[in-house]
Formats: sequence, structure tokens, C-alpha cells
Amino acid sequence: MNCALRQEILRAFRFTLDPTERQLAELARYAGAARWAFNHALAAKVAAHQEWRAQVNALAASGVAVEGARKQVKVSLPNKASVQKAWNQAKGDSRTGADGICPWWHEVNTYCFQSAFMDADAAWKNWLDSLKGARAGRQVGYPRFKKKGRCRDSFRLHHHVSKPGIRLVGYRRLRLPKLGEVRLHDSGKRLSRLIDRGQAVVQSVTVSRGGHRWYASVLVKVQQDLSDKPTRRQAGRGTVGVDLGVKVLAALSQPLDAADPGTALVPNPRHLRHAAKRLAKAQRALARTVKGSARRDKARRRVARLHHEVAVRRKSGIHELTKRLATGFAVVAVENLNVAGMTASARGTVERPGRNVRQKASLNRSILDAAPAEIRRQLTYKTGWYGSKLAVCDRWFPSSKTCSACGWQNPRLTLTDREYHCQQCGLCLDRDINAARNIAAHAGIAPPTAPGRGVASPVEDARGAYVRPTILRDRGQNVMKREDSRSNSLLPPQRSDPLALPPPAYTQPGLF
Ligand SMILES: [Zn+2]
Repeated sequence: MNCALRQEILRAFRFTLDPTERQLAELARYAGAARWAFNHALAAKVAAHQEWRAQVNALAASGVAVEGARKQVKVSLPNKASVQKAWNQAKGDSRTGADGICPWWHEVNTYCFQSAFMDADAAWKNWLDSLKGARAGRQVGYPRFKKKGRCRDSFRLHHHVSKPGIRLVGYRRLRLPKLGEVRLHDSGKRLSRLIDRGQAVVQSVTVSRGGHRWYASVLVKVQQDLSDKPTRRQAGRGTVGVDLGVKVLAALSQPLDAADPGTALVPNPRHLRHAAKRLAKAQRALARTVKGSARRDKARRRVARLHHEVAVRRKSGIHELTKRLATGFAVVAVENLNVAGMTASARGTVERPGRNVRQKASLNRSILDAAPAEIRRQLTYKTGWYGSKLAVCDRWFPSSKTCSACGWQNPRLTLTDREYHCQQCGLCLDRDINAARNIAAHAGIAPPTAPGRGVASPVEDARGAYVRPTILRDRGQNVMKREDSRSNSLLPPQRSDPLALPPPAYTQPGLF
């Protein structure tokens, strides 16, 4: 008997919009207002920060120790509430002719401003927390201003839940406050039904542009049945080990489709590589246009569109895979990959320039095109939805070198070996499937997480929080995944993936 728990979770429903010409202009105007508001709030913070720094410097110059001066000087940092209060007094109004800093504010929804002020608060907090070491994941830089044409065009609207201004009209229209009804490309049937049954309440909507399209991501509080146990079918299939890679997107310890053994290897569609030719052509065309010309704008839009299409295809393929894994098995076991470390800049830093920059840059592209971190993130929340569990295998577990049948370790596994040959028991198997079987056998179940939250375990999340410092030993170069060599410490560390090392330097015969 499958036991279902009804829980309230936050879930986003994303729709592609099909706006009219007039609405397109409106959407751009809203995004512009949000950008202005974010920059306005950030400027207030930066000014306060500079004021604080100037006072500290002045105090330090007068002979006070710098540490003491830093503690002594107090400058209040304007937050959303104070920024908004000051803004309300200074905004002006173009309708009455009152002069001000943004007299056009009434042309857009007020939440454009409010949510952008909140976002500036969040950006500032992220930077500070990261600086203090209170934030996991990679370092967050000093908040930057948004620049038209460079930043992501987006804005977020909220509403009163009791008087919903954000709502679906039929299945094909989304009503946005003040903007009116915008037609949807896809159907809103699923969300509409949930709302009608009283199982979903719309909280907010984020509208953003990606390439040539506008999207609405509707954030909804949903009463969802989350099963805490796998179904009989899932239980019957047990644990699946997933080895994420570049050659194939994923190798599985047992096929996705039980009847078809070929589905143990999920091909990597390499969307970026497929679009590379068209992209190169579009980029060449862009490079040949005159700056500031209408043709340049058109060429730029074409490049953006191609990139966006790659991203969309990649995402839909990954969603399909992760859903099949989460619904098809009781336990999904993955390896704990440090994607940020693996794809560290090929160029390196000024002090430590990288080697083999081109190969490494190309490998980075391939890894990121396969999107292992996104797969992991989706598996984390989807296993929570479908009654399965996510198991995570230690990053230093030598999954590629070990024989999945007898445990023998091949110390000299060469990177080009596509097949794993065991010299002890004679096993002969695709190397990635061998690795996947090891992962299935060795992964421990990750501690349960709050459903709908994208955090896998308290020690490491999808952002790569808690990274063992040793991973940086080899400057993040050429690392697909490091495996533990402690068991045979006399040997040099082995790299596990064939693409982990760049191909040996090509030397023309006869030249040397
Ligand atoms: Zn063996």
C-alpha cells in the first residue's frame, strides 16, 4: 500500500507567453522599470558603503587602529523599506507634472519596483554572507548594476492572495495585474485544474525574456500528495546507479526501460555542439555588422535566439531523464561531482595560468552542455515528489577503476578504454555501466530533505557547498572526477574519465 502525505509545497509552473506587439512593448517596459529600481536600490547601498569606508579611512588616518575604526564607524545601510520610503517621496508624477526621479512610475505595476528593491537586498546579503563565510557554494561577488542589453530582462509581480490579480483565464490566457491578459503558448490546464479544486494558490509571477521569447513562471503553493514510499513497480526495480559523463549523458546500472537493455546508456544529445555551426555563422555575421546599426541588432538577436534554443532543448531532455529515473526506481544513486571545480576556468589565474587552455575550455563546454549539476538538482526534488530516494556516493570512491563484480581495482585503467576488463574475474563491460553499478552498490541514502527544496544533504548541496580543499590541488585542470587512490597509494593518482585528460600533444612524426 502506497502511503501518501499531503503536503504544501511551493512549485513553479512555467509558461511560454505569446504576447501581442503592444504587450511586447509593455513587457520590455516592465523589465526596464525593474532594472531601474534594482539599480536605484543598489546605488543607495553602494553609496552608504562608500560613506562607511571613507569614514573608516579618515578615522584610521587620525591614528585609530583599522580594526577599531571598522567597529566604531556606523553607517546605516538602506534596506527595502527605507529605499521605498525615500523613493515614494522623491518619485514625482508625470500626470500632475511633479518633478521627480521617476515620474513615469504609474505606467507599470508597483510590484516591479517593490520586488526589485527586495532583490537588491538579497544580492547585498548574498555578497555579505559569502564574504563572512556564512553562505555555501562559490564566492559571490560584489553586487553589480544591471545593464540594459546585458542583464536578464525580468520582473516579478505579487498580488493579494484573497483578491488574485494573477490568474489563469481559461486554459490559454494568463492575466497579469495592470498588463492584462496575455496569451499562452502552452496550456494552463494542469494549473487551472489544481486552482479550481482548491489545491493551488498563486503567490507571484516572474516574467522573463529568454532569447526571442517571454516566459511567465507562476509560483504556486500546492497541496501535493507526496508519497513517502516507492510504488510496487518502483520497489520492484530497486536501485539504479547513474554515472554522469560526457561520452554518454548517463550510464545506468540497469536500463531505463526494463525490456530494452539498450536504454542503459542514455545518449548525450550535445545540443551545443549541434548548434555550433549555425552559431559560428551567426556570430560571424554579427562581428561583421556596424556597431549601433539595425542589422547588428538583428544579428545579435539571432545569436541570442540560437543560444536560447540550445538551452531549452537541453533542459527538456534532462527533465525527461530525471523524471523517468525518479518515477521508475526506488533509489537513484549518483556520484557526488564537484562541477564548479571540474569546470574551473581554463585560462586559470594570472599567478597560475592554465595549461592546454583550448582543450580544457572545450571539455568545460562539454561538461556544462551535459549539465550534471542540473541533473542532480532535479533528481533531488523529483525523488521527493515521487516516493523514491536519492543516494549520493562519496566523491572519492573509485567507481571507474573498481570491478563491479569482484571488487578488483585496475590501477592502470587507461583513459581511452571504453570497456572494462577485469583481470581477476574476467568481467567485460562498458566502462560507464561498470561505474554505474559500483555507484549503485556503494551509494548511501542522502538524509531526507524538505520536499520541494533543492538541497540534497546538509554537507553538500547542488551548488557544491562544502568542497574539500584538496580538490583544488591540481588547479581545477583536466579534472573529470578524482578518485581515491589511497588504497594503492604507491601509484600516481588515476583519472577516471577518458575525457578528463586532453589528448596527448600531437607531434608530427619526423619533426623531432
Ligand atoms: Zn572482477
